[in-house]
Amino acid sequence: MARVYNFSAGPAALPLEVLETIRNDLPDWRGTGMSVMEISHRSKEFVEVAARAEATLRELLAVPGDYAVLFPQGGATMQMAMAPLNLSTRADTVDYVVTGSWGKKAANEAKKFCTVNVAADAADRNFTYIPDESGWERSPNAAYLHYTPNETIAGVEFHFVPDGDVPLVADMSSTILSRPIDVSRFGVIYAGAQKNIGPAGITLVIVRRDLLDRVRPDNPHLMTWKAYAESDSMTNTPPTFAWYVADLVFQWLKEQGGVTAIAEINRRKAEKLYAAIDASDFFSNPVAVDARSWMNIPFVLGDAALDAVFLEESRAAGLTNLKGHRSVGGMRASIYNAVPETAVDALIAFMAEFERRHG
Ligand SMILES: *Cc1c(COP(=O)(O)O)cnc(C)c1O
Repeated sequence: MARVYNFSAGPAALPLEVLETIRNDLPDWRGTGMSVMEISHRSKEFVEVAARAEATLRELLAVPGDYAVLFPQGGATMQMAMAPLNLSTRADTVDYVVTGSWGKKAANEAKKFCTVNVAADAADRNFTYIPDESGWERSPNAAYLHYTPNETIAGVEFHFVPDGDVPLVADMSSTILSRPIDVSRFGVIYAGAQKNIGPAGITLVIVRRDLLDRVRPDNPHLMTWKAYAESDSMTNTPPTFAWYVADLVFQWLKEQGGVTAIAEINRRKAEKLYAAIDASDFFSNPVAVDARSWMNIPFVLGDAALDAVFLEESRAAGLTNLKGHRSVGGMRASIYNAVPETAVDALIAFMAEFERRHG
């Protein structure tokens, strides 16, 4: 079958150009007579890829030299444990701002390792807004403040970076590389790969180097950021295939003009989809306008009984993975970097046609 427009929340669409490069590379990678999956991570060829991935990522996000870039396994979820283990003692208090399911999960994980103060919690309005920063109840001596710049499930995004002197720890899994960021405002940024970076199996962590020494002395080696920083993330056998694909995605993004250029496209994609939803009498999005995500756009139909029809007909029209998360219901269009503007145009046209026939 032909390639579809894939609105999956994750693992998500990859650029077609990257898939074609992989197909081409697979049996005989760089003249080695082997695939990238069959070669040592310590080989000259692979070490070059790993180094280029880091260098390109640094260039894309203008990562300052006093930050380490790490590529562990375990996904964003493992970082929810690694953050408290690497940054706090058992006696410390840490602040969490909870604006969705992932932030809540991160706070609950940290509770096993230190005292968690939930400084703000948007559960009271079903995770459809960002609580005003002036009302956050922050603790006086927090070891760090953790938040989730983009909540993938409810489609709620911070369009500002919180203030404060304590290190900011940000789970950027579903927004990283969608726009420029000022890395120097953060202590730690982490992201699972399977939204805007590459295949599942590799994780990105950007950590200010002076924080690496806060790690607990009895921390497991593979959960220690410093161990990754000191070994170029070759602490043990890394996920070589996922790393290789991430490198290709970084190259692809650079060819698109980097994060500034993709941000313009992402803004346009999101604005036109929200405009179509807001103009419709049939579709709606419940998120506060100033907190709407560029990457994940949930919407509900005027009649939930039509959900199954919408999914079936959209699928037939080549638009896939639009089913909303079970906790929110309705639909969700995830429109990450690799989802082209033509996909959003096709979705908008399909929605208008659906409303005309069923609305
Ligand atoms: C997808 C996602 C996660 C989970 O990532 P894993 O790599 O599966 O652990 C965590 N946080 C956010 C914001 C996500 O979007």
